[in-house]
Amino acid sequence: MKREKKNLIFLIAGIVLVSLLGVVFYQSALPTVQSFYTDQTSLVMDIHSEDNLKFHADPERCKYGKVEYISSDPDVLSVIPDETDKLTCKLVSFDLEGTAQIQIRQVQKNGVNATVLVKVEDKSLIAELKEDAECVDQLIGQLDLNQLSYSDKSSVEECRTAYNALSDRALQYVTLESNLVRAENEIKKIEASYQKQAEAVADQVDAVGEVTLEKAQLIEQCRMAYDALNDEAKQFVTNLAVLEEAEEELDFCLSADELDQLILSIGEVTLEKEEAVMRVYSAYSRLPESAKKKVQRYGILTAAVGVINTLKADKAEAERQAEEARKLAELEEQRSTEENTGYGIVYWTPKGKSYHSRESCPTLSRSKTILSGSVSEAKNSGHGDPCNICAGGS
Ligand SMILES: [Zn+2]
Repeated sequence: MKREKKNLIFLIAGIVLVSLLGVVFYQSALPTVQSFYTDQTSLVMDIHSEDNLKFHADPERCKYGKVEYISSDPDVLSVIPDETDKLTCKLVSFDLEGTAQIQIRQVQKNGVNATVLVKVEDKSLIAELKEDAECVDQLIGQLDLNQLSYSDKSSVEECRTAYNALSDRALQYVTLESNLVRAENEIKKIEASYQKQAEAVADQVDAVGEVTLEKAQLIEQCRMAYDALNDEAKQFVTNLAVLEEAEEELDFCLSADELDQLILSIGEVTLEKEEAVMRVYSAYSRLPESAKKKVQRYGILTAAVGVINTLKADKAEAERQAEEARKLAELEEQRSTEENTGYGIVYWTPKGKSYHSRESCPTLSRSKTILSGSVSEAKNSGHGDPCNICAGGS
């Protein structure tokens, strides 16, 4: 019995020994590992997620001993070796975006190793950023680069504002930025050309200087040059007000000049020209103050008005004197008639041609209406013949 037991122990020990030898022999018969590798050298993971990373050894069946895993940034990504498969590990990400290098390494001097670069990103955030960028791309895409006009300026500016409002991360996802830059350059080019045209007009206006009648054509040319610009270019003319003032000033010059011509046409002042002179004077009064200052012959006009007034006064005086003389003469005549006839009141009938010295004259006895007055009144009313009977007629 004791012997059997001993034999059994020897048998077991023998089997164990053979097995161990077999394992050692098998192990020593395997080639040593040349390298580790993965199917993908880089990997992208979402935050708060897990993933398995499988390494392979080359050659496939080989000795590689004990391995360890290292994460270059454990805050971003931690790595947990798989208990059952030493060439597989589990990657666990947190709420931090970043990049970590995961290394598998043979634990021995000059151990073989391999690395994988893993990027951890917030995929929902990135989806939002891409959406924002897409909106800007759509805006830019609406610009027709081949038919861009200055009226598109505000659209281009809108694009730029939207673009600038994006975060730096979102900007990375914009694909049409070069189109926006092209559009901006195009607008700048158009603007520069408008500015050039406008400056040419502005220079022309500046060259007018002090406004005189001789500048009329120059001012008209400025106006034509300005009107020839399109509405957008017009906005770049900085001295439109100067042109408008020059035009107004020119109007004053023209009014003043017209008036000067009118004053010249008066010529020698006579009383017959009173109405004409007063018409010119009233035209002068209606001129704006600025135009009045430009009338050169104002002195001649006021002198003419003065002459008219003097002539009128002279004429009135002459008429007054003539009237006085006439009245005197009439009185004188009446007096001399009365002296000649010696009659104060005389009498006559409306139809008769004679006057009578007495109302009782027989020739008047049948008359119903008998008028009376002075001799001159009788003469003036057609009763100038002295009666043959009572007034010494013959
Ligand atoms: Zn008589």
